[in-house]
Amino acid sequence: MTTVPKAFWDELRGELGAEAIDFSSAAVADYGANMMPSGDRLPGGVVYPASTAEVQTVVRAANRHRVTLWPISTGRNVGIGEKSPVREGQVVVHLRRMNKIHEIDETLCFADLDPGVTFKQLYEELGRRGHKLMMSSTSGPTDGSIVGNAIDKGAGYTPYFDHFGMTCGLEVVLGDGRILRTADGASPGAKTWHLVKYGLGPFLDGLFVQSNFGIVTRAGMWLMPRPPVIRAFIFTFPDDDDFGAIIDLIRPLKLNNLVPTLLKVTNDVYSLGTVETYPYARTGGRTPLPDDLRRELQRKHGIGSWSVSGAFYGDSEESVRPMIERVRRHFESSGKARYVSHEQARENPIFRIHLDTFSGTPTEEEMPLHDWRPGGGSIWFLPTTPMIGSIANQHQRMSRRILSHYGFEFITEYVCTGRASRALHPLIFNRKDADESQRAAECFRALMAAYAEAGYPLSRAPTEFQEEAMARLQVIPQVCSDLKRVLDPNSVIAPGKYGIV
Ligand SMILES: Cc1cc2nc3c(=O)[nH]c(=O)nc-3n(C[C@H](O)[C@H](O)[C@H](O)COP(=O)(O)OP(=O)(O)OC[C@H]3O[C@@H](n4cnc5c(N)ncnc54)[C@H](O)[C@@H]3O)c2cc1C
Repeated sequence: MTTVPKAFWDELRGELGAEAIDFSSAAVADYGANMMPSGDRLPGGVVYPASTAEVQTVVRAANRHRVTLWPISTGRNVGIGEKSPVREGQVVVHLRRMNKIHEIDETLCFADLDPGVTFKQLYEELGRRGHKLMMSSTSGPTDGSIVGNAIDKGAGYTPYFDHFGMTCGLEVVLGDGRILRTADGASPGAKTWHLVKYGLGPFLDGLFVQSNFGIVTRAGMWLMPRPPVIRAFIFTFPDDDDFGAIIDLIRPLKLNNLVPTLLKVTNDVYSLGTVETYPYARTGGRTPLPDDLRRELQRKHGIGSWSVSGAFYGDSEESVRPMIERVRRHFESSGKARYVSHEQARENPIFRIHLDTFSGTPTEEEMPLHDWRPGGGSIWFLPTTPMIGSIANQHQRMSRRILSHYGFEFITEYVCTGRASRALHPLIFNRKDADESQRAAECFRALMAAYAEAGYPLSRAPTEFQEEAMARLQVIPQVCSDLKRVLDPNSVIAPGKYGIV
């Protein structure tokens, strides 16, 4: 690990003030901590710029002193790398002091946000204004950054689920220190920066997603008018093999846009993990979870093998009721679905998570999932599965086989559009157990290889596996390297992120 030159810290202390830098051993340990199998990755220190100009100052100093940086907005990328850098020694640029909501336009429905603005913060501000607008939130940490999540290809569950898709107009400090405003933001005095995505000329915003060409310092985010009535529906299905039929039932509902939200297909252990921990005492320490015990826990919590959830929006209860009746007929035609109403779901913490996410309400209720096993290990495997029941069932069998071989449960939530679903597989392991950590890493690699061989690549990867995941792609890695040379000639911003060097 290269050490950060003293002159870099001296320069930043002089320009930004002593409170904006921290390279104490406590800070290095805190920012190096993560949940990945191969151990913490210690940064060279931390810097806290308070404005776009200060980010420029940091980037220019990094260029002068050949220091590498690791930008994070709030660093709550839990299970994907947390705050720790992709390579040891990088200086974390934590944008938490840049947490201003510059504007909320309630007529054209957008917000202009600093990267440090959290889901909770925007939700509270919208509430203060009477909740006329609805944001799209994740089911993850409420103190996560809206901008950070969007540029990491994060997603929510409302019709505005595609968080990057809902950004409009970015401000970026490039690796060479220039400030780029994308789309209409490039036009001095333009009043349409956060209204039209594409502007004049090439569309550059995508370059700053899962990349290392710049530090995003501001973004427009579209918001939805909050519907007066939001009614979720849930159907539980008893058997593992119902999964294929579920996927085939969902596909037309989404392709026709009959259901405006995404549909989630959550398996038993994913749900159980939010309210239970692994029952070691019952298994005599054995893993993975035996099927009879899994069934017992399903019964205890009133869930089946799968829970399907979605929601309707309307201006009254009456307007929504026929839609609920329609999806009931649709799912119940399978002969397997059990309906759980919005009101019943509110009483069960497992289901309440879905009510919150479909109404754009940040929730912490899913976070205990990470305590399913002790020891604080978590890596999220996130492949894409097409919305075809027979293929989805093949994927289910493949995941179950590989996870079980390495001693892990199949924990999953499929987040479904009409064509494809993001198959969330949090791999929760005891990081304090060296053998289990090694098995987790091997299991992740086996999953990655099996899915790639079957033709289903990843959409997002924990930092420890980004380089390997990216190496499976053709041409894109070389094009990214070419772009890196132009936009960040000294490679100061996060070299190695998503394999881009
Ligand atoms: C139980 C649970 C549920 C979850 N549910 C969801 C979910 O529903 N949807 C979802 O998307 N995620 C989910 N997550 C994953 C993750 O916790 C969230 O995506 C979280 O919002 C990401 O952290 P952040 O927003 O603080 O981003 P950050 O950690 O700040 O950023 C993410 C990455 O983007 C880059 N980056 C961030 N800011 C900048 C910047 N300004 N300039 C350049 N690069 C930058 C960095 O490389 C960073 O590692 C979940 C996690 C858990 C534990």
